[in-house]
Amino acid sequence: MFHVFLFFLTLLSCGYAYTTLSDETLKTIPEPGTDFNIKDGALLAPILRPRVPGTPGSTAVLNHFVEFFRTSLPEWRLEFQNSTSKTPATGNELIPFVNLIATRDPPWAPPGDVGRLALVAHYDSKLTPTGFIGATDSAAPCAMLMHAARSIDAALTERWEKMEAEGIGSEGYSGVQGHKGVQILLLDGEEAFMTWTHTDSLYGARSLAAEWEQTPNAAMSTFHNPISSISLFLLLDLLGAKNPTIPSYFRTTHWAYRAMGKLEQRLRALGQFKSSPNHPIKKKKRKAKEDAKKQSNNAKKTALKPRKEPQFLSESNNADTRTRGFVEDDHIPFMLRGVEILHMIPTPFPAVWHTMNDDGEHLDIDTVEDWAKLVTAFTAEWMDLEGFMHTSSATKRRAGEEYAQSDKKKRKSSPDEKSEL
Ligand SMILES: [Zn+2]
Repeated sequence: MFHVFLFFLTLLSCGYAYTTLSDETLKTIPEPGTDFNIKDGALLAPILRPRVPGTPGSTAVLNHFVEFFRTSLPEWRLEFQNSTSKTPATGNELIPFVNLIATRDPPWAPPGDVGRLALVAHYDSKLTPTGFIGATDSAAPCAMLMHAARSIDAALTERWEKMEAEGIGSEGYSGVQGHKGVQILLLDGEEAFMTWTHTDSLYGARSLAAEWEQTPNAAMSTFHNPISSISLFLLLDLLGAKNPTIPSYFRTTHWAYRAMGKLEQRLRALGQFKSSPNHPIKKKKRKAKEDAKKQSNNAKKTALKPRKEPQFLSESNNADTRTRGFVEDDHIPFMLRGVEILHMIPTPFPAVWHTMNDDGEHLDIDTVEDWAKLVTAFTAEWMDLEGFMHTSSATKRRAGEEYAQSDKKKRKSSPDEKSEL
């Protein structure tokens, strides 16, 4: 990532109609549970390894994603987008880059008529320092996206079945904005092999954006190519360290930033954010500690004062963004082609950035879980899933366990990792 400054800004009005999620729905957003354990969690642990493009680690992580979608989310359409490139670190050798695209569209909609929320993270890790893990960069964001996808899957099915039963041609279901779909982009080759330049970075994103621009949708489609089908490109990067501050980088998507910030505030107020100092468990612990101290001093027990509530999306209450810089990342090739971007990357970067300390042990798992919940809530609201997100906690746990079991079985049978591709 690289900081640059914005010299011009365009104002576009842009909006998608959806129903606000209710408090009840926000309280039922699934938690990842043990799936985010850094040693054996079904979603996160397999990504916490070096995964430099073109190496066996990269293939293994890609297979993990593919296996997850095939096992848990069979309704998602998987595509690989391949490219090769020389890099300044590898001479004349052509390094392969593989992006994975998982898409879920309404079953009746022609692909060219679907406007999609793209949820994006890069899965490659940096070549140096040797053995670099990149837990925030971006193993944890990949796991967050997997969790979001599985958390909305049943609700999407139910909503679309209801729409079909009611007659999908009704007003509000398509029109100029098209039908609404969701897409997960797990991108390769974000990192520079040597030092960040326009040619040594964003290998996967540059190739995907260029290819999609050249791939027209069917004639008479609502959108002319898969790039213009992206209604919002929500990019997660460098997330998973404690107390992040995320500015709003773009005026044209400040409304979407505020929508996410509002969800964050509501989740916090509902006691759903584990990293919050006011989360019921944290408060209980603090109260017990204070009471014990007072008891030993013979002081009177008093009510606990709430701590100041932090906010990841720090500009949520501002009518406009004041940020006049942005961070170079996988959105650039898409932004240059007119895609609207919402970039969830902290400023400043986590202290562990591009060091050996960016590993599983340095993640703040409460924060990772909170991000997963927030991204799920944002996606559920965007996809208009109010009234459909009614998974009970028992079902949630079962779903997690089932996946963990099937994943363990799979790992035990240890297939040839390359055979998937
Ligand atoms: Zn990086």
